[in-house]
Amino acid sequence: MTQQRNTAAWREMDAAHHLHPFTDTASLNEQGVRMITRADGIYLWDSEGNKIMDGMAGLWCVNIGYGRKDLSDVAKRQMDELAYYNTFFKTSHPAVVELSHLLAEVAPQGFDHVFYTNSGSESVDTMIRMVRRYWDVKGKPEKKTLIGRWNGYHGSTIGGASLGGMSYMHEQGDLPIPGIVHVEQPWYYKHGKDMTPEEFGVAAARWIEEKILEVGADKIAAFVGEPIQGAGGVIVPPSTYWPEVQRICRQYDILLVADEVICGFGRTGEWFGQTHFGFQPDIFTTAKGLSSGYLPIGAVFVNDEVASTLAAGGDFNHGFTYSGHPVAAAVAHANVKALRDEGIVQRVKEDIGPYMQQRWRETFSQFEHVDDIRGVGLIQAFTLVKNKATRELFDNWGEIGLMCRDIFFANNLIMRACGDHIVSAPPLVISKAEVDQMIDTAARCMAEFERQLK
Ligand code: PLP
Repeated sequence: MTQQRNTAAWREMDAAHHLHPFTDTASLNEQGVRMITRADGIYLWDSEGNKIMDGMAGLWCVNIGYGRKDLSDVAKRQMDELAYYNTFFKTSHPAVVELSHLLAEVAPQGFDHVFYTNSGSESVDTMIRMVRRYWDVKGKPEKKTLIGRWNGYHGSTIGGASLGGMSYMHEQGDLPIPGIVHVEQPWYYKHGKDMTPEEFGVAAARWIEEKILEVGADKIAAFVGEPIQGAGGVIVPPSTYWPEVQRICRQYDILLVADEVICGFGRTGEWFGQTHFGFQPDIFTTAKGLSSGYLPIGAVFVNDEVASTLAAGGDFNHGFTYSGHPVAAAVAHANVKALRDEGIVQRVKEDIGPYMQQRWRETFSQFEHVDDIRGVGLIQAFTLVKNKATRELFDNWGEIGLMCRDIFFANNLIMRACGDHIVSAPPLVISKAEVDQMIDTAARCMAEFERQLK
């Protein structure tokens, strides 16, 4: 039925009725939306027939690529058999049990339990409630405060947006809520000064220790961070950062939480970012790549000690109507199994990830206004800078980034601007020829961008 309408009609209806996330509605409606109508592999098509390369895997989520018919077949079969049932009142169902079993297999050792949600934000909010419940059960209810990081992103719910360090989100709705504090992000390029990256990694971790001492370790429940800050601009910390963070958390008896919503399910070439950086959190949050975005589902993984503490506390009064939804669980199971059995995650580590990283660095280092070129596996970024020699950034942070992103978009390549960081995270199934095509298009766009700057 929708096929009968054309782009203009859809645009008009969209403008009339649809409020978009993170959008200035008036300005969007002036320009009109681009209608995406289908997708396959790493490509999208719009309603005008343009083929667009998706260098962002949707919103960092379509790890397995678009158009996997085996996943839609699983969804149909599960919907026919058991479209819905809850897991609240002494019931379970095969789809959620099979998924939980598989997740315990792919998770790092000691993570044998998961709690299901519908999104990354819900995973983060669930984690906040779990962390506080954990310390209640331990007899330390005053340990309530969580430490997040400036420029971190943990979602859009009140809890997630508070824990995240996006000041433009805090400005709307009186955030953060009480009991959440922030420390600076480990961005070497900006904050490293005359230290080596390794020295800076340790120094940045010590900012957490300073915050713990300022608030009082007896009041701090957890430190939460993304292994690589994604929406904050793909900030890859030096190798010394996470081990030192872990040491500090253990020293002060503070739970360590990794938000793996972006890094999870193969993005870094490991199943989870924590393995890439060599640290062991107590809890980690996931969503996105768990189902490759085919259906909404998230999961909070807890280690055996946290699981047994929560269990010792009796009822955990938390859950969602769709926690462990059978159709989402069945699709997530098929997705995770394919990521494993087809060697997709392994290929990111051993083949396509290193190839992307090499091409990304060699190509963009040639540009006058590009610096801090970085990435791991299939998550990469660079920063647009005014002056490479002095590391001077552009005025009006973000303005130049948007200009650059719009050039990519006009050339049918989706990359994202996070401030003046240009970031990319394509589907993990991208081929070498597609990497070449993506890099070549992006290089042409950057040449155009630098021409426009002059
Ligand atoms: N945590 C991280 C690290 C994220 O990157 C995101 C979303 O980008 C979220 C949480 C929130 O996930 P969702 O948008 O599914 O609520």
